[in-house]
Amino acid sequence: MSAQYPSENEEPMRYNAWFAAQDNPDERYPLTEVVYYSQSGGLLEVVHDMEALRQRSAQEWRDLFERRWMRTIWPYGSGVWGKKEWVCPIVDDGNVVSMFEGGTNLFWAERLGAELGIDDLWIKLCGNSHTGSFKDLGMTVLISVVRQMMAEGKPIRAVACASTGDTSAALACYGAAAGIPTIVFLPKGKVSVAQLVQPIAHGALVLALDTDFDGCMRIVRTITADQGIYLANSLNSLRIEGQKTVGIEIVQQFDWQAPDWIIIPGGNLGNTAALGNGLSMLHELGLIDRLPRIVCAQAEHANPLYRAYLTGFERYEAISARPTAASAIQIGDPVSVSRAIRVLQHFDGIVEQASEQELADAAARADRSGAYACPHTGVALAATIKLIGRGIIKKSDRVVVISTAHGLKFSRFKVDYHESALRDVVSNYANPPLELPADTDAVRRVIDERMEAATK
Ligand SMILES: *Cc1c(COP(=O)(O)O)cnc(C)c1O
Repeated sequence: MSAQYPSENEEPMRYNAWFAAQDNPDERYPLTEVVYYSQSGGLLEVVHDMEALRQRSAQEWRDLFERRWMRTIWPYGSGVWGKKEWVCPIVDDGNVVSMFEGGTNLFWAERLGAELGIDDLWIKLCGNSHTGSFKDLGMTVLISVVRQMMAEGKPIRAVACASTGDTSAALACYGAAAGIPTIVFLPKGKVSVAQLVQPIAHGALVLALDTDFDGCMRIVRTITADQGIYLANSLNSLRIEGQKTVGIEIVQQFDWQAPDWIIIPGGNLGNTAALGNGLSMLHELGLIDRLPRIVCAQAEHANPLYRAYLTGFERYEAISARPTAASAIQIGDPVSVSRAIRVLQHFDGIVEQASEQELADAAARADRSGAYACPHTGVALAATIKLIGRGIIKKSDRVVVISTAHGLKFSRFKVDYHESALRDVVSNYANPPLELPADTDAVRRVIDERMEAATK
């Protein structure tokens, strides 16, 4: 593939990255080794050669990233691979599997902000992506490394993940693009129709198990102890490397200025960790001189991090998550909890929660102002509303809400809301269609009534 495109990666070996044990930075592995845990059983992190990265000045990095942003030179037109040196420098350009993910729109939600009482509210629409969620950002990195491993002769038969819906959609899609077999484990009946049909359409082996996400996760961990089946869940920190570009993009889109707040919904908590890692790298390499505060927003029905936050992160306990409309974050035992706590402590972070009522109304209010919010984005918006109400987020603060998936993936949730059929929710902003006879007078009467009500 790379042969057809001019490559600007003049010195590919100048930068390096590897896996390192969380508790022992000297315990290292190449990124192309099939390894997920350190000798002590902890998680591995991707570590970059920061000395090499410091050889370029902050301004040189900004210029390089701007030159590549949203163009077509392979693979740098991707929002992720445009930052290749910071993300995964060890992959050959020819092994990159990319759909030019990232580069999603960050827009000023002027009317919604005004309604909530703040002037500078922005939404980063990560769901405007190939498979409809931010999971593409991490999956392009993971599948590219798998392709590199296979090129180097590693005997990988398939890539597998447990999923609340969006990870499996991204895995199946990127696997299909690369011609690599994929296996997805889904909690039966707990993902949306759109999420279920995506891996089916992409030809994955789809296993719907009679358990919840945490149950699927336990099984996939056992299955991937077989070296021939590679694990694609976010405990594999290759995913985190791609996802960390979301924070870098937000800063880039504000002309390299950090906002005051970034609010992100959290379930397995890999994305919260990734957001922090990207911003930390910007800070360490001198591209920004102050950090935003990070708010992780959880569903009240799946809130182990919120409970830990209430103890000042002294105590953490896994819980059994209850059903929530925010199904992608219905997780009681998040894999990346220690990573997320580290990030929240570094970013003067806050954890907030949202009830089913709060998340559903918040999503509906956002839709009324022209957004189209998935339930997880509803959780983040509900947390934002609470923090504004408490005076913690101020009127003039610049606030970015990360929208994690496209609302169109959650049509059932929206239909149920507007039909007042969501469990435990009063649909305060319902707008059901009116059924009328095919009669001009009846139609006119209804229009007049509605328009009059709107001008009151
Ligand atoms: C995966 C996902 C999340 C949660 O991300 P974590 O890394 O698991 O915290 C939130 N929203 C959507 C739509 C997702 O697919």
